[in-house]
Amino acid sequence: MPVSDAATHDRLVHLRDIADLRQTVAGYRKRGLTVGFVPTMGALHEGHLALVRHAKTLCDVVIASVFVNPKQFAPHEDFGRYPRQEAQDAQLLESVGCDAIYLPGADIMYPPIFASTVHVDGPALGLEGAFRPQFFDGVATVVLKLFNQVQPDVAVFGEKDYQQLQVIKTFARDLDLPVQVVGLPTVREADGLALSSRNAYLSAEERQTATRLIAELNAVADTVRQKGDVEAALETAKTRLTSAGFGPVDYIELRDADTLAPADAQTTHLRLLAAAWLGKTRLIDNIAV
Ligand code: AMP
Repeated sequence: MPVSDAATHDRLVHLRDIADLRQTVAGYRKRGLTVGFVPTMGALHEGHLALVRHAKTLCDVVIASVFVNPKQFAPHEDFGRYPRQEAQDAQLLESVGCDAIYLPGADIMYPPIFASTVHVDGPALGLEGAFRPQFFDGVATVVLKLFNQVQPDVAVFGEKDYQQLQVIKTFARDLDLPVQVVGLPTVREADGLALSSRNAYLSAEERQTATRLIAELNAVADTVRQKGDVEAALETAKTRLTSAGFGPVDYIELRDADTLAPADAQTTHLRLLAAAWLGKTRLIDNIAV
């Protein structure tokens, strides 16, 4: 059973089904508390914890969910080996004052009769959408379900997954969802590598090479700011990544930061986004320009 006065205790409440979740949230609401929400796939790191800390500054209580969403993985992707560490995740969430962890099973999220998909165009087109065609349908469907289950006032997402953040903001606006979607800057290692649960896949050597990705993004961004030859800079970045040991560079592209449409000379608010393989690991990163 959920603990009804969680907000006054340090203990993290564990919620495993929708009934327990709703009862806990109803308890918060009865006490006039605002609810923040941080959806994750677990294997938590400082990036996720920054989202929880930020949500705590915006709301009275914070719920984090951990669910490795099968619908956003293609059959050949890493769903099976995605790191799962529920006990450690719970400890970390408790350490930053998170109030509740929601751990729905796949049977709760997708019972056999499940037949609906949320599809977003606009910012979902191209970039990740081109290389992972199932991805944003899976993300939008699970996030809408989680929003409806938790019914938070505020939901906090990382700019690490910048296109995902724009997709979620778009459907929250288009579908009139009563939730404020907030983005938080990417948390990085001291050498610049964006924190990611998938960094655990990297060998020691790959981990060293991985820092090249943000270095090349910064180099292209410098060229853009200095009004240099951006196309040449993008090509140079791809070549340098490949020489450094990266496998295919899926994309490095300059986009309109709000719509994610390809940037042109008139675009004032720019975002540079990249995805590249390092061994068997696919890394993504992005920066404001
Ligand atoms: P994930 O568990 O990878 O699905 O991510 C859950 C949330 O954490 C998403 O909103 C991500 O954008 C965010 N996130 C992941 N890595 C970072 C990071 N390095 N900095 C900030 N937010 C992050």
